[in-house]
Amino acid sequence: MEHNLYIYNTLSRQKEQFVPLHDNKVGMYVCGPTVYGDAHLGHARPAITFDIVFRYLKHLGYNVRYVRNITDVGHLENDADSGEDKIAKKARLDELEPMEVVQYYVNRYHKAMEVLNVLHPSIEPQASGHIMEQIDFVQKILDAGYAYESAGSVYFDVEKYDKKYNYGKLSGRNIEDMLESTRDLDGQSEKRRSVDFALWKKASPEHIMHWKAPWSEGFPGWHLECSAMGTKYLGDEFDIHGGGMDLMFPHHECEIAQNKAGLGKDSVKYWMHNNMITIGGQKMGKSLGNFINLDEFFSGNHKLLTQPFSPMTVRFFILQAHYRSTVDFSSSALEASEKGLSRLMEGYARLQKLTASATSSVETAGLRAKCEEAMNDDLNTPIVISYLFDTLRAINLVYDGKEFISETDLAELKSVFATFIEKILGIKSETEASAGNEAYKKAIDLLLNMRQEAKQNKDWATSDKIRNELTAFGFEIKDTKDGFEWKI
Ligand code: ZN
Repeated sequence: MEHNLYIYNTLSRQKEQFVPLHDNKVGMYVCGPTVYGDAHLGHARPAITFDIVFRYLKHLGYNVRYVRNITDVGHLENDADSGEDKIAKKARLDELEPMEVVQYYVNRYHKAMEVLNVLHPSIEPQASGHIMEQIDFVQKILDAGYAYESAGSVYFDVEKYDKKYNYGKLSGRNIEDMLESTRDLDGQSEKRRSVDFALWKKASPEHIMHWKAPWSEGFPGWHLECSAMGTKYLGDEFDIHGGGMDLMFPHHECEIAQNKAGLGKDSVKYWMHNNMITIGGQKMGKSLGNFINLDEFFSGNHKLLTQPFSPMTVRFFILQAHYRSTVDFSSSALEASEKGLSRLMEGYARLQKLTASATSSVETAGLRAKCEEAMNDDLNTPIVISYLFDTLRAINLVYDGKEFISETDLAELKSVFATFIEKILGIKSETEASAGNEAYKKAIDLLLNMRQEAKQNKDWATSDKIRNELTAFGFEIKDTKDGFEWKI
C-alpha cells in the first residue's frame, strides 16, 4: 500500500508511520459506550474521531475490521472495583430488566450515530454476550501467575506484574506513586494492594447480573471485556486500539497488563486517544448542570443552547478541531460552525453548477495532494477543512463569471470535494431536509394568508374552517396586528 500515513501513538508518545501487521488488512478496536443513559458529546467525539480513522483507512485501500463494543455489564459506579453496576442501578431505579435498559439505550445510541453519519462498525460485541471468553481470559492470567483468588473474586496482581513488565507505561503513571498515595487503604479489602484490580467479582446477594464461574457466581471486571473481545475478533495482536483520553487510565492500562499477562504479548501496535470536550471551559458532568445530550443539541432544548443545532453542525464542529486537542462547546462556537458549514456546502453545490471553459484561470490542481498530506499527518481534519474553504473563493469567482476553469480541472475539483467532504469527513447535505421545511412553512403561510383574505371578505365560514382544522392538526395560531404567528 503506498501512502505516508503517520499517526500519533500514545504509547510511544510520537507520530509513527502506519504500517499494519498484515498486508492490506487492518484490525481496529474502539471502546464504545456503557449503555445506561442517552448519548452525549462525550460519546460523539470518539465515535466521530474513529469514524474518520475507519473512513480514511478504507480510502487508502485497506480492508478494515472495526470492532466497537457495547459495555452492558461489569462497569461499576465511579469506575471502581466496588459499588453498584451502572446498568443494574438504572434498571433498579426504572423498575426494568437490565437488558431492557441496555436495549433501550443501544437503540438510541444507534439512532444518534446514524444522524451523525457515523458508519457502523464491522462488529459490535456486547460484554454480556462474551462471559465465557472473559472467564477463559481470567483463567489464562491465573495460570500465568499474575492474578489471585480472594473470597470468590479474582484480582490482578499489579505489583508482581510490574516487576517483570512495566505497569503504567501508557499513562506514564508510576506504581510507587500509586502505592504511596493509596497505602492507607491497604489491608481493608480482599485485595492485596489497592492498585490491584478486579478480573472477576463475586456477586453480592443484591447484585442481579451474575454468571457461574469456577471462583464464584459473579461477573467480570470492567477492563476484562475489551481484552477478551478485542483478541477474539482481531487476534492476539492487532493494529489500532482507540478510545477517549479518559479511558487511558485505568481502563486501557489494565487492558495492556491483562493481555501481556494472559497472552504473553502486547496486543496493540498503535494506541490512539481523542481528547475531551469541555463546555464553557468546564468539564462536562451531570452534577455541574452543563450536561447536554445529543437529542438536546438537535432540538435546542437546553438552557445553555440558543437554538437547535443539526447533527451535521455537531459533526463539523468536532472535525474543525484536531482529535488530540480539547474542544470547548458553546452555543456561539456552534453558531460559527453552522455558518461555516453552510458556506462550505453552498460552495459545494455551486461547484456542481459550474460550466467548463477551454482553459483555467484559477489554480486548483494541488488541492488533492494537500488534503491527503493533511490527513496523513495524524488525520488533521481542521487543515483539510481550511484547504476546502480556501478553494471556495475560486469556485465563487468562476460562478460569477470573473474567472474560468477547464473541463479537466473542474472534474478533478468535483472529485476532490466529493472525496473529502462526503467520503472522508462524512459530511452530508442537510439542505434536502431544510428545503422540505421551507416548503412546508410556505404552505402553512399560504393557508393563513388565504384566511386573512377570507376575513377581509367577511367570508367567516372559510376563515373559521382554516383556523379550526389547522388547530385540530396541532397548530397554534395567533392573530397579531400585522397579521399572524403560528407554531406547532
Ligand atoms: Zn474498553
